[in-house]
Amino acid sequence: MNRRDLMRALGAACALSGPGFPSPALGRTGACGDASGPSESRLETEIVRLKLRHTWTTTMSSSDFRDTLHVRLVRDGVTGHGEGAPIIRYKENAAGAKEAVLSVRDLVTGSDPWQFEKLLGEIFRRVPGQYAAKAALDITLMDWVGQKLGVPLYRFFGLDPSDARITTFSIGIDTPEVTRQKVREAQAFPVLKIKVGLDTDDATIAAVRSATNKPLRVDANEGWKDKEVAVRKINWLATQGVEFVEQPMPAEMLEETRWVRERVRLPLIADEACQRARDIPKLLGIFDGVNVKLDKAGGILEAFKMIQIARALGLKTMLGCMVSSSVSVTAAAHLSPLVDYADLDGNLLIANDPFAGVQVRNGKLLLPDRPGLGLNPA
Ligand code: MG
Repeated sequence: MNRRDLMRALGAACALSGPGFPSPALGRTGACGDASGPSESRLETEIVRLKLRHTWTTTMSSSDFRDTLHVRLVRDGVTGHGEGAPIIRYKENAAGAKEAVLSVRDLVTGSDPWQFEKLLGEIFRRVPGQYAAKAALDITLMDWVGQKLGVPLYRFFGLDPSDARITTFSIGIDTPEVTRQKVREAQAFPVLKIKVGLDTDDATIAAVRSATNKPLRVDANEGWKDKEVAVRKINWLATQGVEFVEQPMPAEMLEETRWVRERVRLPLIADEACQRARDIPKLLGIFDGVNVKLDKAGGILEAFKMIQIARALGLKTMLGCMVSSSVSVTAAAHLSPLVDYADLDGNLLIANDPFAGVQVRNGKLLLPDRPGLGLNPA
């Protein structure tokens, strides 16, 4: 879909949704007729289909698009934006996320958004699962609060934007020829993240190495089910300029992963094994770090807590993301000055981002200095 088609499609969605529904492509001014007054409180949802630039393949799935849930809180003349990217592995989808948000719509519009900690606590109590929906609501509230305060979210959290990390650019599993092409397209990024975990690993790394000498980070997405295979692969990767390996074995195989860690020379980072804060303590001695994602944790505030807990326990920290638009990726980027590693490229993998937020220059994340998330229409 080209940009004009996208605008037409979003315009149609706007019309279908009724007056006052600001499509994400139209930003916070709400060209569908945003007539929010000082006392109005409105929570809106929209499932947006994000089109991938390349078919995206990992050990879990292969797809040409992803549906994410966009949420808007219109209140006191300010529109807060949020997004959640439901994670298939946790049996989430966009329709379920939307239903979850609508189930607490009256609670949100009837509550004081300044008491976001209490409000989100109540949402977490009422809604089982549906962490992408919770993330969408949390991001919406934090964007609203940041805009009302007139400060960018990194400042709200007391962070220095010049500490924002270099993000890796992710290369999904593909044929050697397409892998080489993707590596060439990622020329501006100083560090790449390579997806492995299928039986094509050797060919994938060989294809990458035929095109670049950059440092690599490798994500096996639980793909190696045999601990001896995992040890052999990781020690081979250590000879290939790889910095660390993410989630080599299935999340539940913690004792096997501990066995692997004692026999390899690269740090291991937990992703699927670390969804929320309560998962972190049991990973000590098994992983060297954790990959925190807003869509796993349930938003910015939960991700912030996870990062602090992991740091306090001496673990390395990483911020990751799902395939999503600039709403969700920008939200995560505001916390990136806190972490050791960033993998925040989900918006760069899509062709129809409705917003512009965080930018990337030579791999470095450039945080918007506008209030809240600091989003603009694309
Ligand atoms: Mg991962």
